[in-house]
Amino acid sequence: MARSQLLEQTCKSALNRVPHQSRLSFRWTVNPYRGCSHSCHYCFARAYHTYLDLGVGEDFSTKIIVKTNVAEMLRRELAAPRWTGETVAMGTATDPYQHCEGRYRLTRKVLQALVDFENPLSLLTKSTLVYRDLDLFAELDRRTSVSLGMSVGTLNESVRRLIEPGTPPGRKRVEILSRFAQAGLSTSVLIAPIMPGLTDAEDELEPLVAACAAAGIRAVSGVVLHIRPAIRPHFFPWLKRTYPQLDPLYTKLYASRSYAPRSYQEQIAARLQMLRQRHGIELIASRLGNRVHTAGARKELPRPGTQLTLLQA
Ligand code: SF4
Repeated sequence: MARSQLLEQTCKSALNRVPHQSRLSFRWTVNPYRGCSHSCHYCFARAYHTYLDLGVGEDFSTKIIVKTNVAEMLRRELAAPRWTGETVAMGTATDPYQHCEGRYRLTRKVLQALVDFENPLSLLTKSTLVYRDLDLFAELDRRTSVSLGMSVGTLNESVRRLIEPGTPPGRKRVEILSRFAQAGLSTSVLIAPIMPGLTDAEDELEPLVAACAAAGIRAVSGVVLHIRPAIRPHFFPWLKRTYPQLDPLYTKLYASRSYAPRSYQEQIAARLQMLRQRHGIELIASRLGNRVHTAGARKELPRPGTQLTLLQA
């Protein structure tokens, strides 16, 4: 993989408001970086790089915008009288624990600000670097509410290396998440994306669901691949080069739409439900078993039936 260029910038605000029409279950996000060195070929956030006059291909994974003052701006916004302490989400458009976080530690600074202001957090990542910050997650959990999701698409290493070459192995991610579960934190795995003809078979999904159950992870949900129009010029040529045998299937499924047909999605949802029941794991992470928090901002539980379906990381 090509070496990343880290483009340092200052931001005018840290909190981004999620558009009302969005399917996400929270209204505010923080992203210390733009672009992502995990280089997942299916990533819908590639499209956001075009807003910076950068490309959706190699530019997305090698030209990383670093918001050097994000934690300072966040502290200012959390201290404002109009801020009501709503849950902040991270991992919505870029992985907060991608490679350069090891150097900049911006996500850690954001976490420290959330701890200091006792503000709830929901974070999704694909990176094992998150383990570095277990102390802050535990402190935030004591003071208010935090949930950690790990996005894992497959345990099949030969597939993982091709579809998301900058990520750590799926088994390692599950193992790291299990340490958060052991610490009593709310944990979940998002199987994402489930790729038709590649990672969607029962014998591909079952080892992952079983590994999550064995690791003590509270919940597993899944989301089928969607291909937004802006990333098609990157995704389809990559698919043709990498898995030419899948090209006819994907052309049929996604010919004139971003989402796979409803019948296919229902088939996958039923398969996952059957696997969850077989392995005794929930759909949504609940806080049962964790102590009730009384300090800090209002505690918000996931709404029944909601999934983190549009998070990326
Ligand atoms: S899917 Fe997540 S981890 Fe992968 S490139 Fe996109 S933002 Fe990064």
